[in-house]
Amino acid sequence: MRFAPLVDRVAGRGSEAWAVHMEAARRRDAGEDIIFLTVGDPDQAPPDAVIETAVSALREHRTGYAPILGYLPVREAIAARVARRTGQPCRAENIVVAPGTQGGLYCAIQCLAGAGDEVIVPEPIYATYEGVIGASGAAMVTVPLSPERGFHPDIDAIAAAITPRTRVIWINSPHNPTGAVMTAAEIGAIGELCRSRDLWLLSDEVYEDLAFARPHVSAWSLAGLQDRTVVVSSLSKSHAIPGFRLGWIVGPPALSQHLFNLLLSMLYGGPPFIQHGALVALERDLPEVAALHEAYRSRAAIMVGLLTEAPRCRVVPPEGGMFVLLDVRGTGLRSGEFASLLLDREGVAVLHCDGFGPSAAGHLRIALSAPEPRLRQAADRIVRFARGLTANS
Ligand code: PMP
Repeated sequence: MRFAPLVDRVAGRGSEAWAVHMEAARRRDAGEDIIFLTVGDPDQAPPDAVIETAVSALREHRTGYAPILGYLPVREAIAARVARRTGQPCRAENIVVAPGTQGGLYCAIQCLAGAGDEVIVPEPIYATYEGVIGASGAAMVTVPLSPERGFHPDIDAIAAAITPRTRVIWINSPHNPTGAVMTAAEIGAIGELCRSRDLWLLSDEVYEDLAFARPHVSAWSLAGLQDRTVVVSSLSKSHAIPGFRLGWIVGPPALSQHLFNLLLSMLYGGPPFIQHGALVALERDLPEVAALHEAYRSRAAIMVGLLTEAPRCRVVPPEGGMFVLLDVRGTGLRSGEFASLLLDREGVAVLHCDGFGPSAAGHLRIALSAPEPRLRQAADRIVRFARGLTANS
């Protein structure tokens, strides 16, 4: 039987990047001791207040259909949070509740670009972007983020990639997989490009609470650009609740109208008890959020410190996010080989970055999603593995 053309468009390179993860899961299920540092899934417990509120909401039978765009108090709380963080006006009509950043990005791009359009994305990309853009029918145009620039964007290269077909510049800061946190000047310059070339600015800010090297600057904070800026974020990382699938889209009210029609067609409102639980997280500054920030900052510093001992490897200290990159080009192994052998010999599962785009080829992405003792153990095993490689050469 024949499938629709969509099935090819959603099949991005992402699937290839997950090969080591799948193999590691198979081995773990077969009883091997595997340290999993593949997925950015927080290992910490979520804030009690969020869980308690969601559970009481369930007990109160908040189990009917929710409004298509999300409950008004939830949209108001997100709007207030955005306004507080960016210094720019933001109201409920700017906000749409979405199933995670992932669902938000998918819905947003469906409304911003389509067949014949181009979407510019700095590369390496978070692996799902290719399928998300593919689903919209638009073409993904990548612009390299080079290791020599610390994976920060080259604004001239982005400008040079703009064609009459370009509709959207899509950014992500703090960045997955590289950990780069864009400066205010970089985001301002990209915003200026969008203004002068009449483009949408789409910003994935899922790691907004995990910026270490400098404060996170939201694209919504760019003055006078709110009519062309769309920010997508969630509570997944900041509150360790990716399973809640509680995210949002911030954009001009006209976009919210289109998203209403899209979400009516495919979601018909998110789970009400989840939104109720999320309200506590949105309205209050819970201490757990600061603790999570500190945990990832400290885990990154520990991992970077230990991995400097790995011969012929270069560790890239992250400016934010949940990952550390290790450049293994000096070992003579391709990063995919390195990752497979590391799993075989040391039982440590990390992702190789080739599936994220050519600019990160030769790098491994190490997720900081395990408690500190386990991370130290993983780093020791990686160093031992790298030493073994030099001993053999
Ligand atoms: N964007 C990036 C860059 C991510 O790393 C992730 C999750 N790993 C997502 C989006 C999806 O996050 P959410 O749980 O909010 O859908």
